[in-house]
Amino acid sequence: MSVAESAERSGGGHLRILVGLAVGILLGLAAHSLQGPGGKPSEAVTVAVSIAEPIGRMFLRLMQMVVLPLVFSALFLAVVDVGDLRRLGRIGLTTLFFTGLLSVSAVLIGVGMVNLIKPGRAISAETQKTLTSRYRDKAGENVNRANAAKPLGQTLVDLLPENPIQEMAGAVDGSSKGNGMLAVMFFALLAGIAATLRPAETQVLTGTLRGMYEISMTVIGWALKLAPLGAGCLVFSVTAQMGTDILRALAAFVGVVIGGLLLHLLGVYSLVLALFAKWSPVDFFRRVSSAMFVAFSTSSSSATLSTSLKVAHDELKLTPETANFVLTVGATGNQNGTALFEGVVVLFLAQVFGTELSLSQQITVVLMSVLAGVGTAGVPGGSIPLIIVVLKSVDVPADGIAIVLGVDRILDMSRTLVNVVGDLVVAACVDARLRSSGSLQQHGN
Ligand code: ASP
Repeated sequence: MSVAESAERSGGGHLRILVGLAVGILLGLAAHSLQGPGGKPSEAVTVAVSIAEPIGRMFLRLMQMVVLPLVFSALFLAVVDVGDLRRLGRIGLTTLFFTGLLSVSAVLIGVGMVNLIKPGRAISAETQKTLTSRYRDKAGENVNRANAAKPLGQTLVDLLPENPIQEMAGAVDGSSKGNGMLAVMFFALLAGIAATLRPAETQVLTGTLRGMYEISMTVIGWALKLAPLGAGCLVFSVTAQMGTDILRALAAFVGVVIGGLLLHLLGVYSLVLALFAKWSPVDFFRRVSSAMFVAFSTSSSSATLSTSLKVAHDELKLTPETANFVLTVGATGNQNGTALFEGVVVLFLAQVFGTELSLSQQITVVLMSVLAGVGTAGVPGGSIPLIIVVLKSVDVPADGIAIVLGVDRILDMSRTLVNVVGDLVVAACVDARLRSSGSLQQHGN
């Protein structure tokens, strides 16, 4: 059975997920309004959260469980199925072009909006002090992680894993010594290229990995059946415990981030889809909606990868090898929403601290945010240590990150949605370009 056929088995149901999300958000907001005196959650809310949270996390685990086998097998099979290294190179370059185009425009939108609206000017010295002391510990942890960031040369060396098995474990639990998921992807790419050169000798291994891919997609089919409940529980626990006082204090900042993300999602993606993939944006967004909902509720591009692959095969009918290649690489390497967010946070904090950034410093922020979008792990809050690296490069106090940590989860949900849709947009554009140039065979619609 082909990859596309196997994906077809697992069923759609984006409307059911939407209902689950809506119910989760509404119940969460209602629970939030039941807060007792002193803004503490009431006992009933604490109990409800203690039930909903583990259910949501079990849904998340079910998806995370298959990320590693899926990344390895999907990338390996993509290379083997393309079968021709020149064609693979063309797919790689086209992917790089669209990734660059979308990332740069995302950061420019974000940076343009912060300069125009200046949300940092709206923060009083008192709010700044309160938030900095409330999130000091969490900020400190992130600063320590950022301090451990390696120089560029070492980062490049670490793309080649010394011990692939260790990198695989580390990519999942964050203990990786090298580059985690990027190193695993590199290993899978090289293994795939080697197998392409020795098709007869590696037939059994390719068959085994095809089996691993099928197993992962089947498990995801089950996870998606639980998605209405799982996603609902995840958003319920976030909204029930949400700090509305912080949301109010940072309203201008939150508005700029959400506004920028919406502009990128509805404006840039629609334009690129219409221009390069000849795809009606409304139809496209409808088809990819289940991936959007899963991304929003999990805040993790990696955990959403399997849903994106399923959507690409079932709904968009993209050529399996293009979708497997672009989406797997994109889940870590193409994060437009994150890049936009990073640019906004750095300039926002510069405004809060009254640091005037010169044009060349702003260009540094744009470039570093684009690169940080490539290096960010597709996990909740994955961008925070990289934001600290960018803050330091333009002399903005790094522990100022504390100011935005209280609203990060809700913004993380939104930027992850944009990240995941960005991967699907790139996949659709690469597929359309290569089909029109005759580099891919037509895949049945
Ligand atoms: N949560 C984001 C993702 O998984 C990464 C980030 O922006 O923190 O795509």
